[in-house]
Amino acid sequence: MSDHSKTIVIVGGGLSGTCMAIALHRTTPNHQIIVFEKNPEAPGRGIAYHTDFTHQPLNVPAQGMSIFPDQPDHFVQWLLKNRFRYKHLVPEVHAKVFVSRKVFGDYVTEELEKSMHGSGSRIQVRIDQVCKIEKSEERFIIGTESQVQITADIVILGLGNFVPADILSDDLSIYNDPKYISNPWTDKVYSALTGYENILLAGTGLSAVDVILGLCVRGFEGHITMCSRRGRLPLPHDL
Ligand SMILES: Cc1cc2nc3c(=O)[nH]c(=O)nc-3n(C[C@H](O)[C@H](O)[C@H](O)COP(=O)(O)OP(=O)(O)OC[C@H]3O[C@@H](n4cnc5c(N)ncnc54)[C@H](O)[C@@H]3O)c2cc1C
Repeated sequence: MSDHSKTIVIVGGGLSGTCMAIALHRTTPNHQIIVFEKNPEAPGRGIAYHTDFTHQPLNVPAQGMSIFPDQPDHFVQWLLKNRFRYKHLVPEVHAKVFVSRKVFGDYVTEELEKSMHGSGSRIQVRIDQVCKIEKSEERFIIGTESQVQITADIVILGLGNFVPADILSDDLSIYNDPKYISNPWTDKVYSALTGYENILLAGTGLSAVDVILGLCVRGFEGHITMCSRRGRLPLPHDL
């Protein structure tokens, strides 16, 4: 390691942490880059793109999803290169197509793997949860759940979206009721249901639309009421 080499720790290996690791690898000559990701299925994907559910589309067309700002059509080119692999999910590749979030997760993961396994790679991804960061003179000491300690020159937090807050209720028992579901971003939403319920969906934004798609694809036959302060659905893109 040269005198100028630094250890950079990125906490969170979702989309931002991964893009940061790839960008640092491309733009810095010799720094060591360590990414800590607590969820073994999340590196390169995070909450949004870590899904096996292929009906959840990106909310941005392919032309806006390149992870390389200097190559804006990189994602579209990647889709074209992989069009046979995704024929069933993306029958027609063009700049304005909205592809499945899973496919985008595959793209980011593949770019991460290229940077990790290419010659002279300086990126390591560790599956572990960072629990503690302390300052020691000019450096940081990072402690993890599995008792690893690493000293870093630079720490970057890419912790992502936190699970939505609960709706306040005086009746604390609702929080333990399996039919009160506060996190819409997991498949647990569907495992709690029989498919014939009356559902109140609090919120009318993109996550609510995702839940409705998830229910429809599973053949839900119950009744859904959506409710929000303004009652407005997401607007379509002006493409
Ligand atoms: C359901 C959903 C769908 C979305 N769809 C789109 C879309 O279609 N298009 C779009 O542009 N944006 C979308 N977004 C916005 C999306 O959040 C961002 O695009 C992007 O994924 C955010 O990246 P991030 O790295 O900040 O968070 P994430 O990708 O969620 O990554 C954060 C990571 O940090 C890890 N982590 C947290 N704490 C620790 C710790 N202490 N130690 C180790 N690891 C830790 C988590 O496990 C997680 O993997 C969506 C968001 C959600 C929630």
